[in-house]
Amino acid sequence: MPLALYDSWSRTVRPFTPIHGNQVGMYCCGPTVYDHAHIGNLRTYVFEDILRRVLMHNGYAVRHVVNITDVGHLTSDADEGEDKMEKGSRRTGESAWAIAQRYTEAFVADWCALHLLEPTIWCRATDHLAEQIGFIGELERAGYVYRTSDGLYFDTSRQDDYGYLARLDRAGLQAGKRVAVGEKRSSTDFALWKFSPPDVVRQMEWDSPWGRGFPGWHIECSAMSAKYLGAWFDIHCGGEDHIAVHHSNEIAQTQAAHGTRLANFWMHGHFLTFDAHTKMSKSSGDFVRLETLQSRNIDPLAYRYLCLTAHYRSKLRFSWPSLEAAQTALNRLRHLYAGWPQGGRVDQAFAARFDAEVNDDLNLPRALAMLWELIRSGLPPATLRATVDRFDSVLGFKLNEWRPEAADVPESIRALLIAREQARAAKDWAAADRIRASLSEQGWRVEDGKDGQHLTHVPALPLDSR
Ligand code: AMP
Ligand code: ZN
Repeated sequence: MPLALYDSWSRTVRPFTPIHGNQVGMYCCGPTVYDHAHIGNLRTYVFEDILRRVLMHNGYAVRHVVNITDVGHLTSDADEGEDKMEKGSRRTGESAWAIAQRYTEAFVADWCALHLLEPTIWCRATDHLAEQIGFIGELERAGYVYRTSDGLYFDTSRQDDYGYLARLDRAGLQAGKRVAVGEKRSSTDFALWKFSPPDVVRQMEWDSPWGRGFPGWHIECSAMSAKYLGAWFDIHCGGEDHIAVHHSNEIAQTQAAHGTRLANFWMHGHFLTFDAHTKMSKSSGDFVRLETLQSRNIDPLAYRYLCLTAHYRSKLRFSWPSLEAAQTALNRLRHLYAGWPQGGRVDQAFAARFDAEVNDDLNLPRALAMLWELIRSGLPPATLRATVDRFDSVLGFKLNEWRPEAADVPESIRALLIAREQARAAKDWAAADRIRASLSEQGWRVEDGKDGQHLTHVPALPLDSR
């Protein structure tokens, strides 16, 4: 089944074909690095990683760009409030630059722990001031920019279809005047460049043709995506909260400067929530980090497993029991997998069904259920291994790298292992085989590698499809 994806612009699932041959350009809005990422943020990056892996599974070469927002993201979407970085600096007493560095590193560590594929390009907003200033210049020359006492603003009234992505009711917004506009001409207008306030010393500021200041948040994504992917590329991703403001504004800017709406497909991951209504958010301060899970002995990959149990376009309600259930399922899968021998062939019927599920707008919950159906199918263990290996290139559980921890191995088993090592050293092969048989009866498989014995637990576990 050919790949089909949900596009938030057309609001339909439609067939995906790259703009340029076999190459796919994909831009994902990255973190604002004023604090740690929470596992809600990370759900969005897991969804994007699955998307990338499914594209690769379909044979496409993916150029994956992720930005790091380290300036200009204000505490209010209405272009008021202060810069989140400067606020973070006051909270911690460190400089805004030091905070950006620290939380970028923490973010990349979380990224690796979740086994997300390394982007082709990471790009920081503060490394791209020239591109952003250049972009604003283009908008100014095209007549989309006006000036107020605190900055330069984009004039959204110049575009009839402004906010189409969000199906924004502009007439209703204007008539109701629910949002304070200040000096802005319209509530939907947004900052392109903010002047440094005369009474405040900012840590992050630059000279520009319009005065000293810093870029608005949205311009970085229009400028950097154009630089690395061109003005018209395949897929732009982010969390669902970006639809109404950030992505609508990126589209407005790129439409005005380059005449495109950036991407052929707009894709959005839905929220991780605490309950039916409350999303996990950084600003609320009430959030769970990957490190919090690790301190409770939950493996980051168990969180990855949990993310795959829900479709990316439905909310995922976070709870500790559901996370623990994901850890149990992943442990079972790992132990079973480790007991299967190599050298089998992929089962083509299961492979085709798996491909159909992931190509159906990334239906990972059904792909996971199918994985357990495969395991229960009674196919030979070597076939299971080969087939699951193929699935794992999309699932990303790193099954073939997993080894039982030494601490998991009971003392009596370790003693047998040492005795077998000694028997092998003495070339007493009969004794070594007897010990191997004894280990096997107790559920432990031993294989001899160049670097010594490899022990694998093959437990008789009940199967469960969660
Ligand atoms: P931020 O670091 O706040 O700019 O957000 C980084 C990414 O996480 C964005 O794509 C957001 O849309 C996304 N995001 C924020 N909160 C959540 C949540 N509770 N669940 C899923 N994604 C989220
Ligand atoms: Zn963005």
